[in-house]
Amino acid sequence: MVFTAPSDLSGGLYFLNGKRTTVEAPDTFDVIEPRIGKVVAQCPKATAAIVDEYVKAASAAQPTWGEMTALDRGKVLHKVADLIREHAEEIAVWEVKTNGKPIYEARCDIASSADTFDFFGGIATAVLQGDSLELPGGPSQRFAYTRREPYGVIGCIGAWNYPFQTCVWKVAPALAAGNAVVYKPSPFAPASPVLLGEILTAAGVPSGVYNVIQGEQEAGVALCEHGLVAKVSFTGSVASGEAVQRQSATKNVKPVTLELGGKSELIIFDDSDVPSAVASAMLANFLNQGQVCTNATRVFVQKGILAAFTEAIVKEANEKLKVGDPLLEDTRVGANINEGHLQRILGYVESAKQEGGVILRGGERVHPSGVEGGAYFDPAIISGLTDDAKAVREEIFGAVMLILPFETEEEVIQRANNTTYGLAAGVFSGNLARGHRVAARLQAGTVFINTYNDTEVNVPFGGFKNSGHGRENCVDTLKAHTQTKAIYVNVQDKTEHCF
Ligand code: NAD
Repeated sequence: MVFTAPSDLSGGLYFLNGKRTTVEAPDTFDVIEPRIGKVVAQCPKATAAIVDEYVKAASAAQPTWGEMTALDRGKVLHKVADLIREHAEEIAVWEVKTNGKPIYEARCDIASSADTFDFFGGIATAVLQGDSLELPGGPSQRFAYTRREPYGVIGCIGAWNYPFQTCVWKVAPALAAGNAVVYKPSPFAPASPVLLGEILTAAGVPSGVYNVIQGEQEAGVALCEHGLVAKVSFTGSVASGEAVQRQSATKNVKPVTLELGGKSELIIFDDSDVPSAVASAMLANFLNQGQVCTNATRVFVQKGILAAFTEAIVKEANEKLKVGDPLLEDTRVGANINEGHLQRILGYVESAKQEGGVILRGGERVHPSGVEGGAYFDPAIISGLTDDAKAVREEIFGAVMLILPFETEEEVIQRANNTTYGLAAGVFSGNLARGHRVAARLQAGTVFINTYNDTEVNVPFGGFKNSGHGRENCVDTLKAHTQTKAIYVNVQDKTEHCF
């Protein structure tokens, strides 16, 4: 089969048995294109009965896929990677329409998604091998071996900030390990996983192995609770993650991977190179309109460098952060996901003002020409807040950088760790020994030294504390999509009696 990017959403936003489709359901939700802020389609919300149908289709298809060799599954996944690269520009445009992010960023997401399929397709044969284990008495009497077997059906639930990439991060390791998937995207960004479905079919993934349902919380609950779903992989907020963990033990006990929210920190010591620290602080706050889980909105700056850093970051932001139509090449800040989310961000800016914050730039809604209806926000840089301010404590998930002065290394480590989140952290210093020393003490799943927001497919990604558990990307993620079976073998002619 050949993949052709769809021209609109009329083919349906569900994916079943290898094809885009739709369903009959009592309720629908509005599909909004963030770039223009308009409703572009209505999508049926999956009921528990619809979820059941999709899970059963996945369960029926899984054994054939799971019994293929990892090498053969890997060959199919390499074709998926090739197709993503071949159609990268069309997919990137869809991603902009789905999410509102600038096209230059969408291209990076799509390129890394292709790499994700190559990585998991490539390592599957080596990583999924079992072990042969020697036992007392030696191999002439008995031995054991292990097999890494797929779980069966994996229920995946995604957030809206990286619609295509989040889906790929879940689906590539799940499929490489021989599982089938039922994926539920966020209702705020429902289209990309269906596009991925068409690519998987074109590459040769058998019908029924990958399926997409749509809806809000109810559909997610039904997926987590379904007795044929053997594992859940979730990306979203802490509150939803807590519910997902509970729901996933309702009918059967499922392992759950939780990739949740963050309130990360970037610590800049006064021996840092200021232009480099500024470049990374920009990356740590303003990618994807600030809607990035790892973003370090708490920028702790040592007092000796505070004035120079503050002046430089405001200048850089004023020069570089062009807010506009995300389909334009020179746009660096696109649309927020929707009006409600923008109002939430503006609410945090207002709360910062009330708690003594000084707005150094931005912080207001803007209406770029040609896309006036979208939820656009001029990124804010705020100083003057203390650690107990609402904006400093809570995840904003928007383009709001908070500059927080500090004096000593010990003080900043205590303050940085004083949060229930633990997704990421950054340290800037000209003294690498200090960089490593501080990195070891920060309670976060990823720490960046003299850089920020790097993401590579072979490096584990995930949280400490309330930011979740389990990892995405990396070799261990593939193993986590299998269950280990231990097999004892008696090679003697007779079995000994012990009674
Ligand atoms: P959300 O928790 O509101 O929704 C995420 C998904 O969960 C959606 O598909 C939603 O429909 C579904 N959902 C909600 N309640 C559910 C329930 N009880 N059972 C099953 N599914 C349910 O989050 P969001 O607003 O879509 O995304 C933003 C949040 O996600 C932020 O907190 C952000 O930090 C986090 N996030 C984390 C990562 C990561 O990798 N750690 C990546 C992206 C986003």
